[in-house]
Amino acid sequence: MISVKEAKSIINQKIFRLGSEIVQLNNSTQRLLSEDIIAKFPSPHFNNSAMDGFAVRSLDTIGASKENPVTLKNIGISSAGIPSNLVLNKGECIQCMTGAKIPSGSDAVVIVEDTTGFSDNPNVKIMIEALPESHIRKKGEEIKKGDILINKGTRMKPSEIGICATFGYGELKVSKKPKIAIFGTGNELVEPGKNIKEGEIYNSNLYVFSDLVKKIGGSVLMKDVLKDDKEHLESFLSEAMESCDLVISSGGVSMGRFDYVRDVFLDLGVEEHFWKVAQKPGKPLFFGTGDKTLIFGLPGNPVSSYIGFMVWVWPVLNEMMGGNRIKSFKAELTEPFPLEKIKYRYLFGKAWVEDGKVRCKPSKKSGSHMLTSSLNANCILGAEPSGRQLNSGDLIDINLLPWETMK
Ligand code: AMP
Ligand code: MG
Repeated sequence: MISVKEAKSIINQKIFRLGSEIVQLNNSTQRLLSEDIIAKFPSPHFNNSAMDGFAVRSLDTIGASKENPVTLKNIGISSAGIPSNLVLNKGECIQCMTGAKIPSGSDAVVIVEDTTGFSDNPNVKIMIEALPESHIRKKGEEIKKGDILINKGTRMKPSEIGICATFGYGELKVSKKPKIAIFGTGNELVEPGKNIKEGEIYNSNLYVFSDLVKKIGGSVLMKDVLKDDKEHLESFLSEAMESCDLVISSGGVSMGRFDYVRDVFLDLGVEEHFWKVAQKPGKPLFFGTGDKTLIFGLPGNPVSSYIGFMVWVWPVLNEMMGGNRIKSFKAELTEPFPLEKIKYRYLFGKAWVEDGKVRCKPSKKSGSHMLTSSLNANCILGAEPSGRQLNSGDLIDINLLPWETMK
């Protein structure tokens, strides 16, 4: 049995980065960028109007009011997409719509509500004094040409997709999706929706794994629930090791009489890097490598499987896809946390911000078979083994579940 720290360092040496590929912007959701996104032009791209109104010379409007309007001569129209090339001279104005280019010679826009309105009448009364630059979106005021808009390694979400579209990127270089095989083992497992007999249980782990793979942006290439027999395991695994970057199993990797997963990994030539980590839950964790595949054998208890995926598999997938190393942070316990003497202890929990501090508490249900401990959790709490107890007020390491926020 090795420590959590040793196990992490072994895994970190084996992580490989997947290559990149070009995808259409529309298909980039959840993918990680393989390059920085640079502003190819300033934003706004050109001086344009923030409102529907008249482009004027601010000097011409000095002293204008409702009672004392200034009359200007309307010489044309500048609308979004159809800029006017006219140059504004003293005493002139141009109808200028939202998003339209500001004509040369103009330094302000008067909103249409402060004028006698858009009409064919060439004489327009301006009923307000326009300050220089009013209602003008200035070229480059938001972003300069060459600015880094989004850093390499960032996950594509609605804001990132919007920014790429804004700056004209129709295609993006992103990390390839990891190809993943997931399988569960156990003669007792029945698919949800089917009838269950005494002694059987529903397979929940593969549903959790599938959702997690979707969340991180991987592709499940192979998925199956296998009986506890070597033949089934061997045929699934040999194909998975041929076609996938990562294999994740649940169950059958412990000390039970019918726990064949590790034997089959070894029979198929998987190089074992460790089996059993000093952690609770999930001690019988297997990690090995094939020619081009990383292999995780997670124990079958639902909490061990879920926490095991988040602690061991998620960070690996994240780095394979070009993401940065995930770091935990400290939070202050508001309730005691049960430490283990020789095992690192993980528990689902809740974290929130209160009085400027991050506070947290573990789930009250601590059994590795109690998946309801993950309901309403937004983080995983983790603590090194120790002879003593962690109490309210002590600091503990936490990792937010990546799709959650502090509650
Ligand atoms: P094992 O690691 O195979 O010894 O399984 C440990 C416990 O987890 C047993 O109670 C199994 O019935 C349960 N278990 C194994 N696989 C699953 C699964 N896919 N979904 C839910 N529970 C499971
Ligand atoms: Mg089993």
